[in-house]
Amino acid sequence: MEISFRHQIQERTLSELKLYFRPKEFIEYCRACQYYNKIWTCPPYNFDLTEILDRYQYAYIIGSKVYIDDAGADLKKLPDHNDLVAVTNEIYIAARAALDAKLDAIAYDRKQMCVLLAGRCLECDYCTREKQLPCIHPENMHLSLESMGFDVASISEDILGDKILWAKESLPEYIILVSAIFSQEKLDIKDIYYSIEY
Ligand code: SF4
Repeated sequence: MEISFRHQIQERTLSELKLYFRPKEFIEYCRACQYYNKIWTCPPYNFDLTEILDRYQYAYIIGSKVYIDDAGADLKKLPDHNDLVAVTNEIYIAARAALDAKLDAIAYDRKQMCVLLAGRCLECDYCTREKQLPCIHPENMHLSLESMGFDVASISEDILGDKILWAKESLPEYIILVSAIFSQEKLDIKDIYYSIEY
């Protein structure tokens, strides 16, 4: 499926972003999720999340919107094109595959920066955590804002100005992937934009 993104990037300090850090509240959603304790990028963790946050000064919030109308012709080819949740999920997976590869390339220096993908790790068909074995691609493994305990719906609305939409009686107008880069130093937003766009 051809995915066409409309990206937006906003800079905040980590101190500003920490206003949305509510791990005690969001861990309850994670506990109710099918992926809890099944994927290495999902809770519970054997490390301190606040130690990770304290390493960085700046946060770059990346909103990547995919308008459903842009994928219209491709959607009709899907076998379950009347199943709204299945169609939304197809778009989400295709969008994640395209965006994750770009973000992964940015995360070349893990001491200086940390990339957070827009959801659970999708690198392998089955995560080795299911068998309590170590991650087999640690170089491609990244946490997400939600798995760290951030309120991503509020981040999207307050910082990006975009609501996260869900399929209900009809397909949403768009889906939005909310990713992030944490960095020790100030980055040039134009460089990030270029890296994810081309
Ligand atoms: S890279 Fe594979 S093994 Fe590692 S966290 Fe992701 S899915 Fe699991």
